[in-house]
Amino acid sequence: MLIVQKFGGSSVANAECVFNVAEIVTEKYKEGNKIIVVVSAQGDTTDDLIEKAREINPHASRREMDMLLSAGEQISIALLAMAIEKMGFPVVSLLGWQAGFNTNSTYSSARIKRIQTERIKAELDKNNIVVVAGFQGVNRFGDITTLGRGGSDTSAVALAAVMNAEICQIYTDVDGVYTADPRKIKNAAKLDEITYDEMLELATLGAQVLNNRSVEMAKKYNVEIEVLSSKSRVPGTKVKEAAKMEKMLIKSAAKDTNVARVMIVGIPDVPGVAFQIFSRIAKAHINVDIILQSVGRDKTKDITFTVAADKGNAAVAALKEYIDMVGAKEISFDTDVAKISIVGAGMETHEGVASRMFEVLGDAGINIQMISTSEIKVSVLIEAKDADRAVSVVHAAFFDDSLAL
Ligand code: ADP
Ligand code: ASP
Ligand code: MG
Repeated sequence: MLIVQKFGGSSVANAECVFNVAEIVTEKYKEGNKIIVVVSAQGDTTDDLIEKAREINPHASRREMDMLLSAGEQISIALLAMAIEKMGFPVVSLLGWQAGFNTNSTYSSARIKRIQTERIKAELDKNNIVVVAGFQGVNRFGDITTLGRGGSDTSAVALAAVMNAEICQIYTDVDGVYTADPRKIKNAAKLDEITYDEMLELATLGAQVLNNRSVEMAKKYNVEIEVLSSKSRVPGTKVKEAAKMEKMLIKSAAKDTNVARVMIVGIPDVPGVAFQIFSRIAKAHINVDIILQSVGRDKTKDITFTVAADKGNAAVAALKEYIDMVGAKEISFDTDVAKISIVGAGMETHEGVASRMFEVLGDAGINIQMISTSEIKVSVLIEAKDADRAVSVVHAAFFDDSLAL
C-alpha cells in the first residue's frame, strides 16, 4: 500500500518532534507500506524567515522571497531523513524540484502544473522512504517557487493524487477537524468524517487546519484525506465524498479575520457600474468575496465588498481613477472586520439555519454588516472585536442545546 503522510511545522518543531515523526513513518514502513512523507518548515521558521527578509528589504521581490522561504522545508527534510537513517531505515530526502514539482511562475502563490514522478518512483522501487519538501516547486525558468502559506497540504494531496496513494494523512497539532477551532472553543467536538464540499468551504472560510487548495485538489482527484495528530495515536477525521455521513445539520463554525471591507459611497445609479468596478478589481487579480449594493436613492447608490485584508489598498488603488471620473462621494476600506461562518450540507434541506444564527448574534448584541449564503454555508461580516464572542455564541447555539431547530 502506498501512503502519503504530511507533517506540519509543529510536528517537526525540534529534535524530539522529528524523532517522533520518524517513529510514525517507520512504523507504517515496517508494516510493508511504501511511504512518501511531505514536511513543512520547523515551527515558526517560515514566519522567522519573512521577518529576516523585512529587516533587509521590506519590498523584496517575490522571486527572492521564494528562494528564502523554500529554505525552511529544506532544513526539515534533511533532519527528518537523518533521524530515519539513524533508526536504521533506508531514506532519501528530495527538494520540490527533485521530486518533480513543476509549477507556474506566480512566485509566492504558484500553482502546480504537473509532477514528474520518475525520481520518486525510482526511490520507492529502491525501497526508500521518500521525504519531500512541501510548499515548493520549480518553474519553467528553473527558478524556485512556493505555493502560498499552508501550501504543504497541497503538495501532499497532489503527490497522493499522481501516485495513486491509498490515503493522504495530514498530521498536525490537533487530532482532527472540529466543530470549531478547538484552541478557541473549549467544547468543540471532533468530527469522524466531513465531505470535500464542507471541508472546502470551511478551509476557505478561515479554518486553517487544511489549506483550501489541497481540499479542492483532493475532491477533484478523489484523494481520501485523514487529518490527525502526530502527538496522540488516535483516529482522526476523514475528508471524503459523502457516504454514510453523520446526520449533522451543521458541521463547523469558522472565523476569518483576514478581511478588508471596501466601501464606495454615492456612485451614479446607472447600468454598467458594477461591471466597471469589478472588472477593474479582477484585472488587478483581486478576489472579491461578499458584495452588497444599496438601493439607489437620488440617482446614486453605495457598493460595499470584501477582499483579503492585504488587498484593501490595492482594491482602492485599482478603482481610484474610475471613482474620480464618475464622481463618487467616497471610497475607503477598513480591516476592522471579521467573517463568521457556519458550514454543513445538512442546512441544504433545513430552513431556519440562517435565521437561528442571526438570532443568537442579535441576542448577543453583535451587529451584522453583510451576509452571504450558499447551499451549505452562511457567512456574516461583523466588527473584528466581536469575532471570538460571535463564534462562541454561534457554536453554542448549534452544538450545545443540540439542534434546537
Ligand atoms: P500545520 O502547521 O500542521 O499545518 P496549522 O496551524 O496550519 O497546522 O493548522 C492546525 C490548526 O488549525 C489547529 O492548531 C487549530 O487551531 C486550527 N483550526 C481552525 N479551525 C479548526 C477546526 N475547525 N478544526 C481543527 N482545527 C482548526
Ligand atoms: N511552511 C509553509 C508555511 O508556513 C508551508 C506550510 O506550512 O504548509 O506556510
Ligand atoms: Mg497548515
